[in-house]
Amino acid sequence: MFRPNQYVVALEDIDLDALAEAGIKGLLIDRDKTLTAWRSREVSPAKRQWIERAKERFSLCLVSNTVFVKGIRAVAEDLGISVVCGWGLGRKPLPGAIRAALREMNVEPREAAIIGDQLFTDILGGNLLGLYTILVKPVPGKEFPGTCLTRILERMVAGRLRLAPDSRPERQ
Ligand SMILES: [Mg+2]
Repeated sequence: MFRPNQYVVALEDIDLDALAEAGIKGLLIDRDKTLTAWRSREVSPAKRQWIERAKERFSLCLVSNTVFVKGIRAVAEDLGISVVCGWGLGRKPLPGAIRAALREMNVEPREAAIIGDQLFTDILGGNLLGLYTILVKPVPGKEFPGTCLTRILERMVAGRLRLAPDSRPERQ
């Protein structure tokens, strides 16, 4: 349940052609430490470019457990994509926010990929609903203090599952 279908170094390393060929139509993307640094509104040029390319072929939706809704709305608006925030029992890995995002994009779970940096929220939540799951290494920088313990546990699970990110694709 914690094993992602794919593990890459960063969002921009995800091969969009391969996802389209696999029949994926919608991408659910975590914000904190996946798309931006924690609570940041700044999207790096490489990630922005990847999002722009993804928008040409997929429906995109940010899915976050953040309580700082204003910030994430600003990011979504800036990128021109939709956003769903999980509250209470809707938080990842519980199905509420993920289901809401699927409805928003009008895609079935098997037509969707969820991309995130946390095994216990993004990957578990996606696996429970039968989405294609993609783990990324966390964007460097500070962290929500409560996540530090989670990271230790995640490293233990990742070690046990022998998870290692795919090597970075060649760039020109
Ligand atoms: Mg995250």
